This record gives sequence, structure tokens and C-alpha cells, in this order.
Amino acid sequence: MNNIVPIIPICFWCAKEKNQIDLFKLKKNKKSEHIPRSLIIDYEPCDNCKLNMEKGITFIEATQTPNFEHQTEIMNNTYPTGRWWVVSEDGVKNMIGDAKIFKQILMWRKCYIDPDVAAKAFSTGEQNHDKAPSS
Ligand SMILES: [Zn+2]
Repeated sequence: MNNIVPIIPICFWCAKEKNQIDLFKLKKNKKSEHIPRSLIIDYEPCDNCKLNMEKGITFIEATQTPNFEHQTEIMNNTYPTGRWWVVSEDGVKNMIGDAKIFKQILMWRKCYIDPDVAAKAFSTGEQNHDKAPSS
């Protein structure tokens, strides 16, 4: 068992430690002191972020190239920057004129947007996922 080390995963979305401990299996010949005690393992949101995301449609700012060393893609050529916004369904309806696209977004609950679009759509530049959309 000495090649198993406990790790506190960090939530990618809020950079806070999750309330859990993951057991991390070391690769052969790797020493446990080289493994940080907390790190981002995946894009799974913590309970708090999950709650916020469930309040509406999540817009995730993403680029086509990694934003930091060794960043893994969340899907094909998509690397989230860590900035995201939750918009109520009504809010999204106002943003997206196209009914077909709006329907798709409602199904996905998630939307990846590039930084240029994000800057226009969310002109304040402030992430608003801490403020629950009313409704
Ligand atoms: Zn989180």
C-alpha cells in the first residue's frame, strides 16, 4: 500500500479544496514527496459549484489552447480558463435570439464560449456565479 498517497483534490471552478480525499496511485518509480498534497485532478465541480451551476445555464469561458502547463482539455480542443457565469433560462433567452440554439443550450445546460464572446456577453467582466439568478 505504500504506493498510494492521499490527495485533497482542488475544484477547478473555484480553486477551493473539495471536501474529500482521493487516493492517488503512484506510478512506478515515483516518490510520494514529489506529489503535491492537493491538486486539480479533473473538471468535476465541487458541491458548492455544482449547486451554483444547477441554478441556470453555465457559460464557460474556454480557449483552444491550454491556459497553463499540462492543462488537459475538457473536450476536443477546449480548455476552460476558469471563468464562468451562470445565467437564468430567461436571461439566456434574451441573449440568444435563435430559438433552435436556445433549445439546444437548454438541453446541454452548458455552453462554451471564447474569451471575445465572453467579454461582450458579460461586459462587467465579473463572474456572477456567486450571485444566484433570481427566478
Ligand atoms: Zn468549486
